Amino acid sequence: YPQSGRLVILGAGESGVGAAILGKDKGFDVFVSDMGSISDKYKADLQAEGIAFEEGQHSEELILNADLVVKSPGIPEKAPMIKKLRAAGLPIISEIEFAAQYTDAKLFCITGSNGKTTTTLLTYHILKNGGMDVGLAGNIGNSFALQVAREHHEAYVLEISSFMLDDMYHFRADVAVILNITPDHLDRYDYKMENYVASKFRMVQNQTSADYFIYCMDDPETMAALAKHPTAAVHLPFTYDSMTELGAYVDTAKNINILVPNRDAFIMNIEELSLQGKHNVYNNMASGLVGKIQQLRNKAMMESMSSFTNVEHRLEHVAIIGGVNYINDSKATNVNSVWYALESFSTDIVLIMGGVDKGNDYEMLKDLVRSKVKAIICIGKDTGRIHEAFEDDTEVIVNSASMSDAVQIASHLAKKGDTVLLSPACASFDWFKNYEDRGDKFKEAVMTL
Ligand code: ADP
Repeated sequence: YPQSGRLVILGAGESGVGAAILGKDKGFDVFVSDMGSISDKYKADLQAEGIAFEEGQHSEELILNADLVVKSPGIPEKAPMIKKLRAAGLPIISEIEFAAQYTDAKLFCITGSNGKTTTTLLTYHILKNGGMDVGLAGNIGNSFALQVAREHHEAYVLEISSFMLDDMYHFRADVAVILNITPDHLDRYDYKMENYVASKFRMVQNQTSADYFIYCMDDPETMAALAKHPTAAVHLPFTYDSMTELGAYVDTAKNINILVPNRDAFIMNIEELSLQGKHNVYNNMASGLVGKIQQLRNKAMMESMSSFTNVEHRLEHVAIIGGVNYINDSKATNVNSVWYALESFSTDIVLIMGGVDKGNDYEMLKDLVRSKVKAIICIGKDTGRIHEAFEDDTEVIVNSASMSDAVQIASHLAKKGDTVLLSPACASFDWFKNYEDRGDKFKEAVMTL
């Protein structure tokens, strides 16, 4: 890519502003353009650096003269300005791709349909506790470019979304993790699963035999795609359901075994993990593999894996009221994550779900709903598909008028020992600002019971 000239950044969020600052440091003539409004904080950051910007529009005459374009992952390929830039033959890359050119740090990169944030934070926790000088960045909300410009760590743990991967070409991950691949965001991939899978596998492009590729052997989409997307990296699969000589598996005594070439074996019982549930055993195996690649001591890793606390809204314990356990899993915005949420409880469940349906197929939930869910309380605008999907599988399906209404109904239906679980399988923007707002409203309503 050009190392000087005009750098145009589309989208002034965390990643765009970070890329602008790094670009300025590297001597580019930087211009930032955002179709929406730019937050006061980011405006102040740009002004402080003397970087030109516009908001509420994309001015062609200020954009089409670019030498290099860095685009926010939120802007789809079919956006008119992107089409014009493509027609002009200009290179369009992601902030990660741009920033990676300017660092020699080791890059531990995590993608997947579910569990990215949890695994990224857990990996960061393990490496930092293990004594490494490590940065945390990517989709998690911290700009990688800004850290490359201003912090200079020896390694980074990066949460990478498929939208970011779409604009990555030369990037090389020292360690690439693909946690799982289940349908999500298909609207951005021409409704073709193979396109979405190919996007995820961009994670391993350019890897060499000095690198590592960590993936889930129990994930059918990943396994089916392996042959089509070869990588020279050392393969380290992880599995709950079988065994492996290299990588990680769970033995009959419920111990995680982590086996990386030329490292001592790591063994820890799953009961001792601070994050419970099968999905979190997967996340711990993936993170533990990264730790072992980095030759961390087993004792330090065990300490990290038993002490880690996750961020809010992911199977977050809220309160026990009248013997009923209230759990906030607002971040479960697709069907697969609801499956793992239901799977992780052994009690009867009153499930609060619904919102903006993303073309959900609820089939995979039916068995678990039949065996564990005594009632479903729908939130959000279009609840028809939930009624249709589960009418034969549970006693009660009712609509609610608001989150507090839903929590009230749930508290009446739940008996001592039951779990009330908010795990929506849907996007939140019909009734709420975002999934955090949805989870906060749930927690507030629980606290007034
Ligand atoms: P992401 O960043 O990919 O959205 P999160 O770590 O925020 O993932 O977790 C979102 C939800 O996905 C969690 O609430 C949990 O229910 C579910 N989940 C977490 N890890 C996994 C996994 N390995 N496989 C399937 N579902 C998972």
